[in-house]
Amino acid sequence: MTDSDTSARALHLLQTVFGYPAFRGHQGAIVEHIAAGGDALVLMPTGAGKSLCYQIPALLREGVGVVVSPLIALMQDQVDALAEVGVRAAFLNSTQTFEESMRIERLVRTGGLDLVYVAPERLMTPRCLELFEASKISLFAIDEAHCVSQWGHDFRPEYIKLSILHERFPQVPRIALTATADQQTRTEIAHRLQLDDAMKFVSSFDRPNIRYQIVEKANGRKQLLDFIEGEHAGDAGIVYCLSRKKVEETAEFLNSQGVNALPYHAGMDFSERSKNQSRFLREESIVMVATIAFGMGIDKPDVRFVAHLDLPKSIEGYYQETGRAGRDGQPANAWMAYGLQDVVQQRRMIDESEADETFKRVQGVKLDAMLGLCETLSCRRMRLLEYFGQPATPCGNCDTCLTPPVSYDGTVQVQKMLSTIYRVDQRFGALHVIDVLRGVDSEKVKQWRHEQVSTFGIGADRSDAEWRALLRQVIALGLVQVDHEAYSALKLTDAAKPVLRGEQKIQLRQYQKPVKAKRTSAKSTGYVESDLSGGEQTLFDKLRWWRVETARKHNVPAYVIFHDATMREIAKAKPASMAELRNITGVGEKKLETYGEEIVALIAEFG
Ligand code: ADP
Ligand code: ZN
Repeated sequence: MTDSDTSARALHLLQTVFGYPAFRGHQGAIVEHIAAGGDALVLMPTGAGKSLCYQIPALLREGVGVVVSPLIALMQDQVDALAEVGVRAAFLNSTQTFEESMRIERLVRTGGLDLVYVAPERLMTPRCLELFEASKISLFAIDEAHCVSQWGHDFRPEYIKLSILHERFPQVPRIALTATADQQTRTEIAHRLQLDDAMKFVSSFDRPNIRYQIVEKANGRKQLLDFIEGEHAGDAGIVYCLSRKKVEETAEFLNSQGVNALPYHAGMDFSERSKNQSRFLREESIVMVATIAFGMGIDKPDVRFVAHLDLPKSIEGYYQETGRAGRDGQPANAWMAYGLQDVVQQRRMIDESEADETFKRVQGVKLDAMLGLCETLSCRRMRLLEYFGQPATPCGNCDTCLTPPVSYDGTVQVQKMLSTIYRVDQRFGALHVIDVLRGVDSEKVKQWRHEQVSTFGIGADRSDAEWRALLRQVIALGLVQVDHEAYSALKLTDAAKPVLRGEQKIQLRQYQKPVKAKRTSAKSTGYVESDLSGGEQTLFDKLRWWRVETARKHNVPAYVIFHDATMREIAKAKPASMAELRNITGVGEKKLETYGEEIVALIAEFG
């Protein structure tokens, strides 16, 4: 088969099976490369369309495609979605009965499947390896490939062993895919999976439809509520918190305020957790409040916002978590509230962890980069993309672009802070240091006679919140450390010396009083920004009702039936026949066959 045959057949499958008119970005090139038997390492941001990169080659090549994925809980939905378009898929994992596994294994052996999903620990069992050796395998797709990286945030030891695929199946093409972008992880993936010689496909990591916003934390929960009510009433979203306790409290709070919120964390009962996840996927307008245990591989396309109530540990984490918003390409918000406590807490977690020094050092560097993003005076998107080695220009769709922060020469203020820390012998925490600066007559001040310190009251012209914002930046800049072994006492680092001596100037970000989020233009929300006319909107709503009913009948998430974008196109074009319906993006042969007549009838009835 020639290259042009392959690409024609690939395009045909894309159009007839998946219902999409054309490949996006590198998809076409990747499909051809794998179909021709090559290996590939694919880096693409969330929502760019990684799945088709292995699904179509698996259909083009003889045999069954093996997809290695750590996301057991999502395999059922992935398989259901493929069944909807007529692809023969199944999974092998620990949730199924022995009889069920036997049935799937038989299908693999006899060529009765196009794709089979397996968890890495399952794949590594002798039984499974023997099964695959005895079967015709079209390709191995290693999803979430960054799990192989030891420095990464999702390290899974089983992934390291995947290098044996190369040794045991040298003829079978392998494709590793990830949405994590930094150069170090990339190199590590290639190396550990023995993909050094594979073709690398690196896409732009920009997610232009996501608006980034990082606000000063005052009362986080209240700010979150204002944000949701102001910009995302009725939308689906994810709220990330650091601890299980905070997850539960926040979900409860949101519920008490009329937001439909569900908790999710690893400490919950398994069945409770999966029930919540499945409700989030299947129902509309649910806010999931979760620890980062939630979300990998969540492919719900219409998550309209991701909010962070606590600082992520790294930019990789932040990018990955916020990336779950707006996979459908519609406008979405990534919102975070962050304050002094976050900086202190994250530093403490590193200091107190059991990990070795090298690991701690790497974590420290990653945290610094994250803090840099929070404190930046320039475009957030630029900072993000540059962190991933991608040059960029100001985006116009982040908070610093939309409302540029004011910077000022904060050298004198910083000196006041540093010398106060010094004068109280570096033995006191933030609260007390700020009291001394502001000249507050507290019990502690009296007890230690700190009203006699020469800097007592020299910062009375600024509020407590302003000093906290300043201290946060000073810690982020590495001039001050929090000593967790000594009651969180503030200590000066060597970097503080030139500032105290007046040899180095410090540029700071002006404290901005948190303002209540208002419902901004319709632009910041997905569904509201509808270009549908009144009549089209009514039809769209009818289609949505039809979809809810149909999804319930088939026991699949609504978006597995049709995406909003597809239904919006239907509402506009009002196809009067099956032939016209076939032209709509997202309508492939199988869906046309299954739902076509119902849809055409529904439109005819609508008139
Ligand atoms: P990723 O795994 O990279 O996050 P997915 O594979 O889940 O992304 O794809 C994201 C969405 O984009 C899916 O809804 C998918 O159907 C859609 N999509 C992928 N490729 C195309 C394409 N060429 N044209 C139209 N839609 C596409
Ligand atoms: Zn910007």
